[in-house]
Amino acid sequence: MTFFSPHSRRTALKKIALGAAALATPRWGRSRSSKDGKLGVALVGLGYYSTDLLAPALQMTEHCYLAGIVTGTPAKVPVWQRKYGIKDRNVYDYGNFDTIIRNNEIDIVYVVLPNSLHAEFVIRAALAGKHVWCEKPMAVNAEQCEAMIEACRSSQVQLSIGYRMQHEPVTNVLMTLAGRPEYGAVKHISTAAGYYGAYQNDPENWKISRKMGGGAMYDMGVYCLQAARYTTGEEPVAVTAQHHTTRPTVFTEVDETTTFKLEFPSGAIAQCATSFGMNNNHLHATYERGWAKLDPFSSYNNVGGTASGSQSLSAWLGNQQARQMDADALAIKNQQPVRVPGEEGLRDIRIVEAVYQSAKTGERVTLG
Ligand code: NAD
Repeated sequence: MTFFSPHSRRTALKKIALGAAALATPRWGRSRSSKDGKLGVALVGLGYYSTDLLAPALQMTEHCYLAGIVTGTPAKVPVWQRKYGIKDRNVYDYGNFDTIIRNNEIDIVYVVLPNSLHAEFVIRAALAGKHVWCEKPMAVNAEQCEAMIEACRSSQVQLSIGYRMQHEPVTNVLMTLAGRPEYGAVKHISTAAGYYGAYQNDPENWKISRKMGGGAMYDMGVYCLQAARYTTGEEPVAVTAQHHTTRPTVFTEVDETTTFKLEFPSGAIAQCATSFGMNNNHLHATYERGWAKLDPFSSYNNVGGTASGSQSLSAWLGNQQARQMDADALAIKNQQPVRVPGEEGLRDIRIVEAVYQSAKTGERVTLG
């Protein structure tokens, strides 16, 4: 069984990015914050993640607040306005979105759309002079990522990718273990991230549509990939991958399960599995002299586990999304780089493309 990475609207994106290059008004780090020194955030796409996680988290943040919404579903507008006190002038649809350029109450646009739409809306937000936060995966191919980075660079706005684990305190400890005397170098990582999606009852869901950027690897595989990279602190040099499915009539376009092996320059190996067909979420790292286990390693809550020696990996009980958005808002206020810039999302997407290529050809793919 083979699947291919989607390619979407390359020419159009290049044109939009060139437009952004022409705009080039210095803005990097500039904020026009309007509420108690907090930066105004507009959420684009009011689906599950915006509704259940980001909007509630924006009620807890110190450096930013929910100021606006961008939606294609008019029925959601009064509900969100009532719940979050959003002003009429801060409500947009996908058609009039570009007029957000004239709205001084919106400092940051957070793109929370299906994966194939990230590139278009990040570039349009950059053209409108807004700092941009973009959900993972950054886009569906490296070319889109490069156009997004270029648009934000040209418009002198910050671009941050919504990799919340990069801000999570227990994960931050894990990142420091490799090379410490009591652990030594990473030798092996085993990690899995997935959930059972009942897509047989939901055949129109974009997560099983190739052209929308669906598939387990894009959705959950990036958590394993990120974990392998931040646990080793290395960039993989080769990947070998396979796709599997137990529901072939449902997963006709995208991968239900992908297993992949990453090889690192030090000789460390990461065995990764991601799936829409099983619930799993763990990471086990073996070092020269020690070990660390996180179970879960990428859930919204209770990321934690145990490690050899005296290192505690007890769960941190805060709100991950609030922590991520506050860190990014503060970086923008202070004109400092964000923790997870577009270049980090691009690195992953290059590897994701290699995973799909390896699964398609059956060959080991080396990475530049
Ligand atoms: P969702 O399907 O629940 O929401 C997507 C939203 O996009 C919906 O409101 C939908 O109406 C809108 N939309 C606009 N144009 C659309 C189109 N052409 N087709 C389908 N929907 C369209 O998805 P979600 O789970 O909220 O995911 C959105 C993004 O957030 C994805 O990139 C996903 O990977 C990411 N995400 C991140 C996390 C995280 O932990 N960081 C968690 C969940 C989702």
